[in-house]
Amino acid sequence: MTQHSRDDLWRDFPKTATEFEARFATEEDCRAHWIEARWGGNPACARCNSTRVWIERGGFLFECADCRHQTSLTSGTLLEKTRKPLKMWFRAVFEISTRRTGISAKDLQRIMGFGSYKTAWSWLHKLRAAMVRPQREPLGPFVQVDEVLVGGKGGPHKELVLVAAEADGRVRLAHAENNDADTLKRFVDGQIAADAQVVSDGHAGYNKRSLDKQRHESDARQGCHWTTSLLKRWLLGTHAGAVRPKHLQAYLDEFAFRHNRRKTNGVGRIAARVIEQLVALPPLPMRNIIDETTRCRCFTSTCLAPA
Ligand SMILES: [Zn+2]
Repeated sequence: MTQHSRDDLWRDFPKTATEFEARFATEEDCRAHWIEARWGGNPACARCNSTRVWIERGGFLFECADCRHQTSLTSGTLLEKTRKPLKMWFRAVFEISTRRTGISAKDLQRIMGFGSYKTAWSWLHKLRAAMVRPQREPLGPFVQVDEVLVGGKGGPHKELVLVAAEADGRVRLAHAENNDADTLKRFVDGQIAADAQVVSDGHAGYNKRSLDKQRHESDARQGCHWTTSLLKRWLLGTHAGAVRPKHLQAYLDEFAFRHNRRKTNGVGRIAARVIEQLVALPPLPMRNIIDETTRCRCFTSTCLAPA
């Protein structure tokens, strides 16, 4: 699918809850949007790429007329093997993307009528995975860096989060093992443009070694504090401080995704981006969600864990 038609889909996406409900009133409506987002309107065989396909199982499956391979709507996407209608997924996407403070698994369970908390929890994790945009532009030209300790409610253990924020712009957050110069360098190089000017509050870790490309100044203004106080309030409020360290990065990604789109005109357009990503990203089995232990996911696209 070309960038042009993807942008058209994004532009035409319902902007309000009323418009959303009218546009995606039936399973067929959602399926049509999914097919448009995934194949530009013409489903293709996942094995041989032929577009000569027969529709099977009420539109959920396509059988290839050339090689007989069966391709399902969701195979090879983040929603692979889902047993729930797309209409329910679209609804969940709308809920998580349009609420300023997101939604807890408990609330999603109640809204969607899920029998189990675990189902709601795993849905939110898949949706969070869809909230990381690949090939994100590095931050610039003026970036403030900071760090914050989160979690540890009722216990001594806190988790370190590195923060980089453009002046009144986008933020990046990374769950880090520590704040030594090597870790900071990987964070900075992965997230901040080489020609950016970086301002820190004088933390010793940001020095010639961690900022060898970027220009650097120390300043006590600490503009990241607005972001970090919102982040802390969100983790304690929406999620009642119950985020496990091994899942923290996914929550940080969700926070940054929403924060970076806080000025988007028409809340529905955020949902459009999430659906785009559900289509584009590979499957995420429950086992991976539970076992996921990678930290520092947004340091670079290739290096997932601390060196
Ligand atoms: Zn085929």
